[in-house]
Amino acid sequence: MNLRTRLAFLVLPAVLSIVLPSSRLAAQAMPPQASLGYSDFGAEARLEEKFLAVPDPKLAGEELKTLTIEPHLAATPEDRKTADYVASKFRAAGLQTEIVPYRVLLNWPKVVRVEAWDDRGHLLISGPTPEHVEGDPAADNPRVVMPFNGSSGSGDVTAEVVYANYGRAEDFNELAARNIDLHGKIVICRYGSNFRGVKVYLAQQRGAVGVLIYSDPQDDGYSKGDPWPMGPWRPETGVQRGSVQFLFKYPGDPETPGVASTLDLPDSARIPNPSGSDGSQPYIISIPLSYHDAEPILRALKGPSAPQSWQGALPFRYHMGPGGERVHLVSQQDYQRRIIWDVIGKIEGSQEPDAWVIVGNHRDAWVYGAVDPNSGTAAMLEAARGIGTLLRQGWRPRRTIVFCSWDAEEEGLIGSTEWVEQQGRALDHAVAYFNVDVGVSGPDFTASAVPSLKEFIRNIARSVPSPLGGTVYQTWRLKPSVDSEHQSNAPPITGEDVHLGDLGSGSDFTPFLQHAGVPATDIESTGPYGVYHSAFDDFAWFTKNADPHFLYLQQMARVLGLEAMRMADADLLPYDYGAYSHEISVYIEAAKHRAPEAGLGSLDFAPALAAAARFSAAAQRAYAVESAPSGDLARLNLALRQTETALLSDAGLPHRPWYRHTIFAPGELTGYAAVVLPGVNEAIDAPDRNLAAQQLQVLTQALNRAASVLETVH
Ligand SMILES: [Zn+2]
Repeated sequence: MNLRTRLAFLVLPAVLSIVLPSSRLAAQAMPPQASLGYSDFGAEARLEEKFLAVPDPKLAGEELKTLTIEPHLAATPEDRKTADYVASKFRAAGLQTEIVPYRVLLNWPKVVRVEAWDDRGHLLISGPTPEHVEGDPAADNPRVVMPFNGSSGSGDVTAEVVYANYGRAEDFNELAARNIDLHGKIVICRYGSNFRGVKVYLAQQRGAVGVLIYSDPQDDGYSKGDPWPMGPWRPETGVQRGSVQFLFKYPGDPETPGVASTLDLPDSARIPNPSGSDGSQPYIISIPLSYHDAEPILRALKGPSAPQSWQGALPFRYHMGPGGERVHLVSQQDYQRRIIWDVIGKIEGSQEPDAWVIVGNHRDAWVYGAVDPNSGTAAMLEAARGIGTLLRQGWRPRRTIVFCSWDAEEEGLIGSTEWVEQQGRALDHAVAYFNVDVGVSGPDFTASAVPSLKEFIRNIARSVPSPLGGTVYQTWRLKPSVDSEHQSNAPPITGEDVHLGDLGSGSDFTPFLQHAGVPATDIESTGPYGVYHSAFDDFAWFTKNADPHFLYLQQMARVLGLEAMRMADADLLPYDYGAYSHEISVYIEAAKHRAPEAGLGSLDFAPALAAAARFSAAAQRAYAVESAPSGDLARLNLALRQTETALLSDAGLPHRPWYRHTIFAPGELTGYAAVVLPGVNEAIDAPDRNLAAQQLQVLTQALNRAASVLETVH
């Protein structure tokens, strides 16, 4: 076959899926190589078979046990031990390995105190109560850090309390509608629905002096099922630690947005006040609570009866406040610039060494982190070992593969963000970033991706066996599950066989996709998981609830390894820009229908829709290329890769220039969940007609840029 027909053949299903969405089933019946970017998939299939035989459940279990033997908060000596361990495993697999340090601002708690008195001066609570259950001694280890919020301010406040449900914008609006003023008050709200930093951001904007964020048993406790150690759900004293950084402004070291915090970075290059108006840090204090400690505070609260949707599972009627009690909070946070350690292991590509395929997982944990993140780390180590086995047999990937073990993700995606900022334009050639964080909490496979890689993930899932029999794809299709964190405001896309989520934030794909424009995916295997960010997310919990025989660690190692291999060896990069442009058109249509409801009926969406149509046409023609001498494969691949970069805007999003992607961002008011067309949709929400019109122009320009890059392929 000559290259001309080969290229047309390679990508035919992508074209079919654009022109004839109903033909997707027919496309699936085609030979697998057709949609994978390989002219001859046979050799790759044999290689993959060898790889799939390597990841081992028993070894993965041992690796997980070693990683979680001690609490390993970022920048502690125990964290350094895990960095050395991962580096030794990377070296054993034959990777060129280095430990890359950064010096970043992190807070550790010195004093955290919560006290409450009722109107008659009776003490209601003096806490926090230590995390403890009978039957899980790991939680009693003195090296378990006391529950606190990363990025909390320091302070000592005494005030009345107001209950704000999930701390969403609509919850605060409800309080305002009832004339419940938050100035000088302490807000108590429950975890769930949005990123915790958003709760603190909104409370701070409305004049609150402190925030208590607690885990309601309705959301991840006894209301869901048996609490640990009887079952997987959150026990009475379990606390969700977590960062309240304003991640939706920028992630990473709060003092160095856009700049890498290398050890030699002078202090003068750091911003003076990261809790100022442009910074990512709150200035008020925020403390996480168990429901054991939240209960007496909520029980004593007076004021109007809470709306029914605000009622949680504690056994009394919730009230909105204020009144009935006074609460005293103390938070003394020790802010220091501390050293963190990323571990980077590389395999140099034989033909396109500058084209990097990057696999990443964070290693630091709030406490033991058996599920979050070290189930992902064990999977990554077994994937690296599998690829190392192929290296020893003489294989070299066409492109460079880079394995990354990030530090200080929990405090705000810090290790990955600093590394991305340090690489700069080198990432223009990175062809993909494959993330895994919460790798395994149960048997249900789920994934999120940029639209161009959704079919790629489905294809990988078709090639990996499921512990339940059949393939991962088959079990995924029977029980579709999307992590609630990865919901988005995207309208439904019809004609998909298995749905993938969109990338918002809350893990290390954010700097790659949303700052550097690297196409990204995120995979996990989920189940009932009520011990998130508590001392109980440990090896005992994991083996009892998530994956007793480590078969899902093996599954995730196989999926992650195949992602890397298949992307590293493809002749033609397997991006599906047909699907991408289709999704974008659907997003624009949805925004167009929303605008009149916000009173912005006269906005002109025609240029953006025309640009999306041009992008779509260019995608079809790029793949049906008429003549491409073989030397042009590299040029074709470069254009395919640069199409994603073309979707970045130099100016970035309004009020948050670090975020440059015009199609996906974490929502300013949701934090984890993706907002699609963020510039346009958030201007409609505001509502701000001029900004919406200007952002439509920015979007139109980005789509026209992407189309012209693809048009150069002809
Ligand atoms: Zn994590």
